[in-house]
Amino acid sequence: MSKNLGSFSRIDTNVPVKSRTIFTSSFALSSEPTVNQLNNENEKVLPGVKRIDFLPLDTSFNSSEEAYKSKSTAELARALFVFQLTSFDPLVKHNIQILKFLRRIFGKRLFHYVMEHSFYGHFVAGADLHSIKPVISRNMQYGVKSILDYSVEEDMEEEQAKNKTKMSYDEIPMEGSLVSQSTGSRANEVQYEYHEKFGDRRKDVVSARTYFYDSEAQCNKNMMNFLECIDVVKETTDGTGFAAIKLTALGRPKFLLNMSRVLTGMKETFEKLTAKETDIVLKRIRSDMLSSSLTHMGIPVSRDDSKQWFTWLDVSDQGEIDLYTWSNLLKMQKPLHNFFTVPNLEEGKLESVLPRLSPESDTELKNMLERINKIAEHAADSGVRVLVDAEQTYFQPAISRLTMEMMRNFNKEKAVVFNTYQCYLKNAHDNFIIDLDLARRENFHFGCKVVRGAYMDQERERAVTIGYEDPINVSFEATTAMYEKVIDTAMKEVKLRQPGAVAVMAATHNEDTVRYCVQKLKDLGIKREDKAICFGQLLGMCDHVSFPLGQSGYSVYKYVPYGPIDEVLPYLSRRAMENRGILAKVKKEKKLLRAELKNRLLPNRGGNRQSNVKL
Ligand SMILES: Cc1cc2nc3c(=O)[nH]c(=O)nc-3n(C[C@H](O)[C@H](O)[C@H](O)COP(=O)(O)OP(=O)(O)OC[C@H]3O[C@@H](n4cnc5c(N)ncnc54)[C@H](O)[C@@H]3O)c2cc1C
Repeated sequence: MSKNLGSFSRIDTNVPVKSRTIFTSSFALSSEPTVNQLNNENEKVLPGVKRIDFLPLDTSFNSSEEAYKSKSTAELARALFVFQLTSFDPLVKHNIQILKFLRRIFGKRLFHYVMEHSFYGHFVAGADLHSIKPVISRNMQYGVKSILDYSVEEDMEEEQAKNKTKMSYDEIPMEGSLVSQSTGSRANEVQYEYHEKFGDRRKDVVSARTYFYDSEAQCNKNMMNFLECIDVVKETTDGTGFAAIKLTALGRPKFLLNMSRVLTGMKETFEKLTAKETDIVLKRIRSDMLSSSLTHMGIPVSRDDSKQWFTWLDVSDQGEIDLYTWSNLLKMQKPLHNFFTVPNLEEGKLESVLPRLSPESDTELKNMLERINKIAEHAADSGVRVLVDAEQTYFQPAISRLTMEMMRNFNKEKAVVFNTYQCYLKNAHDNFIIDLDLARRENFHFGCKVVRGAYMDQERERAVTIGYEDPINVSFEATTAMYEKVIDTAMKEVKLRQPGAVAVMAATHNEDTVRYCVQKLKDLGIKREDKAICFGQLLGMCDHVSFPLGQSGYSVYKYVPYGPIDEVLPYLSRRAMENRGILAKVKKEKKLLRAELKNRLLPNRGGNRQSNVKL
């Protein structure tokens, strides 16, 4: 299934690096091959290469030698050059125009040559399966594994993006009259409404990619790209890697918006029905009490209505309903809009939040669910794990819910599907424990990626503009505290469940957070062999954190973008802008790069090789 995009030679990837040692990973995530399998695989790739013991981890991350062992001197010079350029404001601000201009005056060949020796070579692994392989296997020799992302992005102006979004919301065909769209509470109602000002979802977002709905054919194409990415992971990483996916690529965002609205409305009602119980995971109600409870709240629903509504919720063997379970929507014969209903507490009735969908739209909705299912199924069949990215809060309840449903179906033997938790959200920990609880009760493997969150400025502006509570924590410190709370809970769960049942990826460039996780493992006596936590950083960023972790035997991943040069320019543009936004981190990287270049090029004047760089 892999694409033949035509490979081209890349600089440096085969240049022998200074030391030819393998740092084998004895600390892989639970679902990966065992240590011995991995070691054997490495030996197969490079027969006769000497293996050495893991290095102790210097958590100051100040050692230039440990940071850049895997890099040739030319690569270090390129990295320094790229970071210097991203410190130059006007260049970053107008980067996409400059790149297009250079493309025009240089012509294709020269432009590609320049890009390979600068931004593209630094931040992107290559165009296709063949060109990315050397990068992946070299990183693996130093204990750093890969998350692959086919990073081709459409380049479009803001107006075009807004128009696309508007059209995707406007053109859903309806039948008959529009059913009232008001729901349980005003806050819930407005948060999940389309707002023209935020039609270009890329605004103020540099560390995440955005998909715009174009057509069902485009969604199928996106699905094929994800399926191919899974194949590439299988082919290039010996089963140690991940594929990254985004659910907004797979259908109309409006469906995710409305699904989120229903889920939030149901959660609010559920919390009211179970108000006496303060512990969120103990909140349960018996199904036979449901319609009487709703009636008591002023919503006179028939048994059939309430049964249909709670098809979205869970009915356990004991006949108890909690925040999870739906019967398999994919197999549902009824039109799906029937399930998009929430209780309106003010008016005392169950209401649909979707207009009556035409049969075509109902099919579109089912197609979206089928695409998601197909990706998870293909990943499970291929033995490849999938990270589902978290996106904006108005889509996230649906994204998270669909991901949990996939986890429930495909994580029976090992963690195949991973959900993402954004710790800048006030409700991050609450959502996290509900999902952990479900995985424990139903005994499936729980895979999670923990991030701070990429959409902060946009989320805040949207909340102020539309008029609902800011979903983001009040400060950076509060977000960090939330991150640590989620990690603490995850690590407790690791101890509680059988080995390997909980797999956590701490995806962050924050050194303090990495130190926190490392210390937490030590404090709880969780051994490397328990394979409980791994780390994730972007290719071309924070090598001084990733490589020392990998060389010390921690499980660590680089998020590895790939795709042809001309088609990944929007990705490169975002990387340039992101680097401008994190000047302190880039300053440290530049200092380490300079120190290492000096050590290599001027060994007699570079000082003691063993000492760390003073920062
Ligand atoms: C491998 C990988 C995968 C990722 N996947 C996703 C994903 O699926 N979804 C997603 O949304 N993001 C994702 N991200 C991006 C991530 O959420 C962060 O935006 C990015 O990594 C910066 O956070 P940090 O912890 O690395 O760095 P730091 O610089 O320590 O943290 C910056 C982050 O802190 C938070 N923050 C900053 N100021 C404040 C404030 N005043 N109040 C509250 N919070 C504040 C914001 O989230 C900001 O992005 C991913 C990142 C990586 C490396």
